Amino acid sequence: MKKEDAARKIARLRREIVRHDRLYYIENRPEISDSEYDRFMKELIELEETFPGLVTPDSPTQRVGGAPVEGFRTFRHVVPMMSLGNTYSREELRDFAERTKRFLKGASSKFVAELKIDGVAISLRYARGRFVRGLTRGDGTQGDDVTSNLKTIRSIPLRVDLPDREIEVRGEVYMTRSGFERLNEERLRAGEEPFANPRNAAAGSLKLLDPQIAATRPLEIFLYDLLDDAGSFRFHHEKLLRLREMGFRVNPNYRCCPDLEAVNRFCDEWAEKRETLDYDIDGVVVKVGSLEQQQVLGATAKSPRWAIAYKFPAGQATTVVEKIDLQVGRTGTITPVAHLHPVKLAGSTIQRATLHNEDEIRRKDIRVGDTVLIEKGGDIIPKVVKVVTRRRSGKEVPFVMPGECPVCREVIERPEDEVAWRCVNPFCPAQLQRTVEHFVSRGAMDIEGMGESLVEQLVSRRMIRDYGDLYSLDREALIGLERMGEKSAENLLRGIEESKDRPLACLIFALGIRHVGSKTAEILAARYPDLDRLAQASREELEGIDEIGPRIAASIHAFFHTEKNLQVIGKLRRAGVRIREERVEKKGGLPLSGKRFVFTGALSFPRREAENRVKVLGAKISSSVSAKTDYVVYGGAPGAKYRKAQELGVMCLTEEEFLELLNGKEG
Ligand code: NAD
Repeated sequence: MKKEDAARKIARLRREIVRHDRLYYIENRPEISDSEYDRFMKELIELEETFPGLVTPDSPTQRVGGAPVEGFRTFRHVVPMMSLGNTYSREELRDFAERTKRFLKGASSKFVAELKIDGVAISLRYARGRFVRGLTRGDGTQGDDVTSNLKTIRSIPLRVDLPDREIEVRGEVYMTRSGFERLNEERLRAGEEPFANPRNAAAGSLKLLDPQIAATRPLEIFLYDLLDDAGSFRFHHEKLLRLREMGFRVNPNYRCCPDLEAVNRFCDEWAEKRETLDYDIDGVVVKVGSLEQQQVLGATAKSPRWAIAYKFPAGQATTVVEKIDLQVGRTGTITPVAHLHPVKLAGSTIQRATLHNEDEIRRKDIRVGDTVLIEKGGDIIPKVVKVVTRRRSGKEVPFVMPGECPVCREVIERPEDEVAWRCVNPFCPAQLQRTVEHFVSRGAMDIEGMGESLVEQLVSRRMIRDYGDLYSLDREALIGLERMGEKSAENLLRGIEESKDRPLACLIFALGIRHVGSKTAEILAARYPDLDRLAQASREELEGIDEIGPRIAASIHAFFHTEKNLQVIGKLRRAGVRIREERVEKKGGLPLSGKRFVFTGALSFPRREAENRVKVLGAKISSSVSAKTDYVVYGGAPGAKYRKAQELGVMCLTEEEFLELLNGKEG
C-alpha cells in the first residue's frame, strides 16, 4: 500500500474508533460488537506498524479509551491505569509468550491466568485503613471520582486492617446477570430504556449522579491488583492472596500456570464453562507471574507488556434481518422471531433471534432489511440489541402484526394488560405441539426418546389430542411413524411407562399451568402432596403460600376449573400416572431430587422395592446408563450397564453401599 493510501485509511479508522469510543465509554450505548471494534483497532495497529511515520500521539493506539464524564470531579491516578493488549487467537497468545521470553533474554516465565470480568475498571484508595476515594479508569491518567456510588457496593470494605499505610487496590465493578435481568425488567415496566448488556448497566450505574439510585443497582466487585511500593511481594498471585486476607473480594477462579500449555487449558475450560457463571466474562487475562519479570518487561504507551487479554469468540455480531416470522407458544403466546442472514457467533452459526413482542419491535424500530447488532447472552436464542440505523438504505420494511394465528389462522387477541398477542383457539395445533413438548421435557415428565419431530408427527397425524393421550399410544401405531423401528418403539413405550412414576413436582410442572415453573411446582407439591388437593385449593388459600402471588394463584385456580384440563388429568389418572406423593416433601427438595439411578445385576433384595425407596426420596429410575446417570447399583454378575458406567465414570454402588446411602438419606 502507498503511504498516501495508508494515511487516508488510518484517518478513516481513527475517526471510526474515536466515534465508537465515545458511544461505548461515555454514552454506554455501543453500536458495533466488541470484536468488530477490535478488528478496526487491529487494522489500525498494523498500518501504523508498517508506516511508523504516521503514528501520532493522539492516535487511539496510543491512548486508553475513555474520557472523564461531566458531573464528577476528576483526579489523577497515582500510577496510570492501563488497557490490555488483546487477541482472539491462540497463535497470538503463543507470540505473546515468545515475545516475553525474548524480552527476558531467554528466561522462561510462569503465568497467572484470570477470568476477564466484563465490567468497569476501578481503583480504590485506602488511607489509614479507611476507604477514601474510588476512581474510574477514565483516560488512564485521570479518572472520575465515583466514591459515593462505590460506597453503596456492599462487597467493598469501608475499612481494612492497615491503619498506618496508604494503599491502592484495583479491580472490576460488574453487574450479575440475574441482577441485570431484574433491573431491565423493572426499567421496562417503568417505561425506561433497558440496558444493552450487564457491562453497560454497570458503567451506567457507576456514573449515576445520585448515589441513592446507585444503591439500588445490583453491583459487585472483584479485585485483581494491589499497588505495592514497598516491594513486599515477589509473585502476582501473592497479591491476590493478600487482597483476600484483607477482606477484598477476589475471583476464586484464577490459576497459576507453569507454562503456556496450562494457560491454553485454562482458556479452553472457561470458554466452555463461562455460561455457568452469573456474571459475564469476555476472556482470560494472562499475566506474567513474577513481579521482577513484570518490571523488566514494562509497558507500551497503552498497555503493559507482561499481560494480554485472550478474548473468547464474540458474544455479539452484526447481521441483516431477512424476514420476521411469528411463533406460537404453548399458552398461545405469539412471539415474533427474526430470521437473520447466517452469522458466526460464539462458536455457532446464528440464523434466528427472538424479538420478544410487538412493542419491543416498535421500540427498537426493527425493520425487515435492517442491519442489527445481535447478542448471545445466557439464553440459547440470541436477541437483537439494536438496529444500526446508519446502515439503512431506505428500503427497509416496517413490521406489521398480522391479525391471525400463523398456524390455525384464527383471529388473535391482545389482552389489555399484556404485551403479547395470543392465539386463543384451544385446538390450535401449534399450541398442542408446544404443550406436549413441555410435558415430555427434562424436569417435567422426562420421557426419553420423545423429541420435537416425534411430537410433531403425533400431533399432525392426530394420534394425540392432548398429553393424556401419550399414555394410550401403542406399539403398532408407533411403528408406523417415520424413523421408528421396533426397538425404538419399545424404548419409547418404556420411557412413557417410566414417566408415570415421576415426583409430583415434575407432574405439576409438566401440566403447563401458566406462570408455574419448576420452582413453583416444587413449592406446590411440598404443600399439596396430592394433586386432587391442589385442584380443590381456593384462590385465597393458594395466595396464602409464601412465594405465590395473586397472578399465579389465579392461574392455578383457572387451570383446575377448566373442564378440558380436568378431562386430561382424568386420562393421566386412569393411565396410572402417580398423582400423589407417598411421602411429604421436605423444605428445600427431597434428599435425592433429580438423581438418576440404574439397577443392574442380580440383587439380593426385590428390585421394585429398592426402586420405590429411592423414588420417594425424589430420585428417578432409568433403564439404561448414560452420562446423565448419577448412580448405578449393581448386584451379582453385572453386565454391559456396569461396564458402561465404569467407562463413563458414573458412581457404581454395591448393595451395601447403596443401603448405606439410603440410611443416610432416609433418616
Ligand atoms: P479491555 O476491556 O479489552 O481490557 C482491559 C480491562 O480489562 C482492564 O482495564 C480491566 O478493566 C479489565 N479486566 C477484567 N478482568 C481483569 C483481570 N482479571 N485482570 C486485569 N484486568 C481485567 O480493554 P479496554 O481498554 O478496557 O477496552 C477496550 C475494549 O473495549 C476493546 O477491546 C473492545 O472490545 C471494547 N470496546 C468496544 C467498543 C464498541 O463500540 N463495541 C468501543 C470501545 C471499546
